[in-house]
Amino acid sequence: MLFRQLFDAASSTYTYLLADPASGEAVIIDPVSEQLERDIGLITELGLTLRYAIDTHVHADHVTAAGLLRTRLGCITAISAQAGVDCANLPLREGDIIRFGAHSLRVLETPGHTNTCLSLVGPDRVFSGDALLIRGCGRSDFQSGDAERLYHSITRKLFSLPDETLVYPSHDYRGMTLSTIGEEKRHNPRLRLGHEGFVHFMKTLDLPYPQRMQEAVPANEHCGRNPGG
Ligand code: FE
Repeated sequence: MLFRQLFDAASSTYTYLLADPASGEAVIIDPVSEQLERDIGLITELGLTLRYAIDTHVHADHVTAAGLLRTRLGCITAISAQAGVDCANLPLREGDIIRFGAHSLRVLETPGHTNTCLSLVGPDRVFSGDALLIRGCGRSDFQSGDAERLYHSITRKLFSLPDETLVYPSHDYRGMTLSTIGEEKRHNPRLRLGHEGFVHFMKTLDLPYPQRMQEAVPANEHCGRNPGG
């Protein structure tokens, strides 16, 4: 499988491009609007056909490029069926399979950072969105977040994947790029607190809201900028 991990420095967001080399069919996960030309350039250079642009959740810290990619490349946009993003072509639910050439991703509902977060599971890796980050996790204090649900999404769903599963999160703020399920079980300081400790920690984080939240959330509920495209 062709695989690229792309980074938006302004929002510390990882975007992932996956493709089947034989057919050229590709999927992009969590594309960022400011990186539209970079991503289209790469997809074009590599001779790929973008089938799907998937958002793991309604982001609060950046605007998705999903709608713009649909306009420019004719791909299908996908997000949780429960996210209220009516413009998305493909509403995703637990167990759904996204196929691109000989490869596929399985949808795992992992709410808690938001109430409609998804993770995407491949044969050897998981794209964990903002549910599980490297040695951390997404905050749970807005967008219908819930620390209890986040704890269960991580410990009952993501931690039930094989220990060697590669973990590719939506963000990293310290320069880390990759972890594994086993590594996070052993070393994630928040999860090591246990259920009650985790919930208490998350409820007392007291973080400022993301700078672009007022712009990003309404835009992302309409597939990003230029939603009519
Ligand atoms: Fe998020």
